[in-house]
Amino acid sequence: MKLGAMISDIFESVLKRPATERYPFERKAAPTQLRGRLLWNPENCTGCGLCAKDCPSNAIEVIVIDRKAKQFVFNYKVDSCLFCAQCVHSCRQGCLAMQADIWELAALGREGYQLNFGKEADVEAYLAGELPESPAKPAAKPAVESVSGA
Ligand code: SF4
Ligand code: SF4
Repeated sequence: MKLGAMISDIFESVLKRPATERYPFERKAAPTQLRGRLLWNPENCTGCGLCAKDCPSNAIEVIVIDRKAKQFVFNYKVDSCLFCAQCVHSCRQGCLAMQADIWELAALGREGYQLNFGKEADVEAYLAGELPESPAKPAAKPAVESVSGA
């Protein structure tokens, strides 16, 4: 390439708008089919657990406190989710959807990646370690301690 043509290209490029988007200063509406963060609608949930069973990355746990009273805690690990939407297809009650508008999920820490949905009191009991499935529940001591010896 001749020097003159090169300089003209450089000036043209400097004055042109960049081809890339000016994200995050300018945002385009996300496509409606985009698979963003999962949303659980408890209204028709039966606590069947099929969504959790079919999830390939164990990103869901459905804790059933009282099926009749519709007391469930829906634990969703956003940082384990593959956004495959298998759970959405597996749920026969139509309780799950991938939110197209919630996709900016990057963060510096892991806080906020563990989402617990359900009635406030149930989620509190879950977080306080009061349910058998609670993550905060201390590991039970073994009933019999093994002793090794000659
Ligand atoms: S979108 Fe896929 S990986 Fe994420 S919770 Fe649903 S089944 Fe699991
Ligand atoms: S598959 Fe649907 S109905 Fe069953 S536990 Fe999951 S969200 Fe609830």
